[in-house]
Amino acid sequence: MDKYKKKNIKKSFCPVAGKCGGCQLQNMSYERQLAFKQAKVVSLLGKYTHVNDIIGMDNPVKYRNKVQSAFGVTRSGKIISGVYQSSTHNIVSIDSCMLENETADSIVVDIRKLMPSFKLTAYDERRERGFLRHVLIRTGRVSGEVMVVLVTAVQRFPSKNNFIKALLDLHPEITTIVQNINDKFTSMVLGDKQTVLYGNGYITDELCSLTFRISPKSFYQINPEQTQKLYNKAMEFAGLNEDETVLDAYSGIGTIGLCASKSVKNVICVENNPEAVRDAKINAKLNNIENAQFYCMDAGEFMTQLAKENEHVDAVFTDPPRAGCSKEFLNSLCELSPDKVVYISCNPETQARDVFYLTKRGYKVRKIQPFDQFPYTSHIENIVMLSKPKEAKTNE
Ligand code: SAH
Repeated sequence: MDKYKKKNIKKSFCPVAGKCGGCQLQNMSYERQLAFKQAKVVSLLGKYTHVNDIIGMDNPVKYRNKVQSAFGVTRSGKIISGVYQSSTHNIVSIDSCMLENETADSIVVDIRKLMPSFKLTAYDERRERGFLRHVLIRTGRVSGEVMVVLVTAVQRFPSKNNFIKALLDLHPEITTIVQNINDKFTSMVLGDKQTVLYGNGYITDELCSLTFRISPKSFYQINPEQTQKLYNKAMEFAGLNEDETVLDAYSGIGTIGLCASKSVKNVICVENNPEAVRDAKINAKLNNIENAQFYCMDAGEFMTQLAKENEHVDAVFTDPPRAGCSKEFLNSLCELSPDKVVYISCNPETQARDVFYLTKRGYKVRKIQPFDQFPYTSHIENIVMLSKPKEAKTNE
């Protein structure tokens, strides 16, 4: 970890750190943050095998390609935008964040400044009244494309065309604008209905020499520089070969499965968000990949079905949300009994729980590689590679 020693970036650089709560490790040098994360992974998983040194960033700021800003009004009626104070619905007003893409931050500020002249109101949660609830911006690191999603409480958009024209005049780099309508009393940002107001309604980006299309509701890793390193390591750990069939579970827009596709015979992806599955299918076409199939289903149910059908799978990549894999998924995974399991996680606590389960069912942990996908926050990304000892396979 010596190479990060000099990255002793100034501590407490953010004036709203205390209120926002997003950067839990704000007071640590970058080197200490990495040591802290390394120690956490060692404490959770170190009993199984050696934990490789965490892979950090050379410049651990401005890495977020997705910016989500909540809009609201103060008691005196002023429009504010920013982040929710941790565990509350109070908006901490900010114009920029050390972790966020700068273009995205400046677009949010300009939207806020433009609103009064178009008589657009911000949503007032207390009164359940008003128009704009959130702005979500996604930027393509390689493509430079920018998507702006305006999340509104109602469909009716006063002065819509003039507002969009004014925003595009200020930010010609915006490639698409989408209106998403969220009329529910919910802490979810995006609602069910959406309309494309400008451009094609999605952005594309490049990862590991492949092109990916990303729609507003599809999951996409927020730190693309680290994601490439993460995927490359996952592929290396899997040690794929051209006769193999690979399953990518919790596959999002198909990034991991499609990265693996060129090294194997066949790829099966399962994901439960229909918008992400639609993107994944298009992504296969965009990259001329013909050996990948996509299923829109609960990963656990899908695994159970595969196990029942006695399907043969050589390697499974699993990349679940923070809650980890379901019991049903893990149980069927053991029945399916692939030689190799590469478990990518954004929450090593649930990962440790699931890895424990797999080790009780005959898997051995071979490699562990933590990543810093989220500098300055306490979040940790981690890959665990498991495989079956040869004897355990033949005994079944
Ligand atoms: N591997 C992808 C996505 C990882 S995020 C990537 O690296 O980009 C986890 C994904 O799991 C999300 O796309 C989410 O929509 C999906 N998901 C959540 N619960 C699921 C379930 N029960 N079954 C299938 N997919 C699920």
